[in-house]
Amino acid sequence: MLDALVIAPHPDDAELGMGGAIASMKAAGWRVGVLDLTSGEPTPHGTPEIRAAETAAATLVLGLDWRENLGLPNRCLQNTLDARRQLAEVIRRVRPRWLFAPYWIDAHPDHTAATQLVEDARFWGKLTKTDMAGDPFHAERIFYYYCVHLRLAVQPAFVLDISSHWETKLAAIRCYASQFVTGRPTGPHSFLDQLRDEAAYWGRLIGRPYGEPFASREPLALSGLDRLF
Ligand SMILES: [Zn+2]
Repeated sequence: MLDALVIAPHPDDAELGMGGAIASMKAAGWRVGVLDLTSGEPTPHGTPEIRAAETAAATLVLGLDWRENLGLPNRCLQNTLDARRQLAEVIRRVRPRWLFAPYWIDAHPDHTAATQLVEDARFWGKLTKTDMAGDPFHAERIFYYYCVHLRLAVQPAFVLDISSHWETKLAAIRCYASQFVTGRPTGPHSFLDQLRDEAAYWGRLIGRPYGEPFASREPLALSGLDRLF
């Protein structure tokens, strides 16, 4: 059903980490979905209702084909057997060719729990002789996006050129005003400015205006070198 499923601990992590890649995949005609694992609330300036409305607005901006929230506990996300089963059942239902998970090193325990949960649920997705809903399914690839609460000096597996999609990413992130605008410093070093600087940094490393980095635990498989630049 889906070409790619982005799994996010909180509503806004998918947009922050790979909003440009999502817009890029959509522009290429892929069917792309986002599964938020928790509500992301409480936060200092958000409420569940505000966050849900912001998420709906960002979903429209990105043109997602599918988005749901698994309803797991925010701040207390854990890779439990029950959570793994719930996520595996979603994977068996939407059958994404590729999965995207948060990067495995992070200060936020929900994020590192999400990484483990996605990897384990991906494996459970293919199990036979189980009472899980849906038919067995194994996502071909899993890549990791960076929405990290640490200042890491990372060595990504690849950097995607998102120059044509930067404005879409920014518009999607602006939807989450309760997270990135309200109560944040304005002026030349606002959060959104820092985000632009980061995208420009990754773009500079590949000779393009804006980029997004991705990690992979396995080597990348290329059928040819024609897509490299
Ligand atoms: Zn998060």
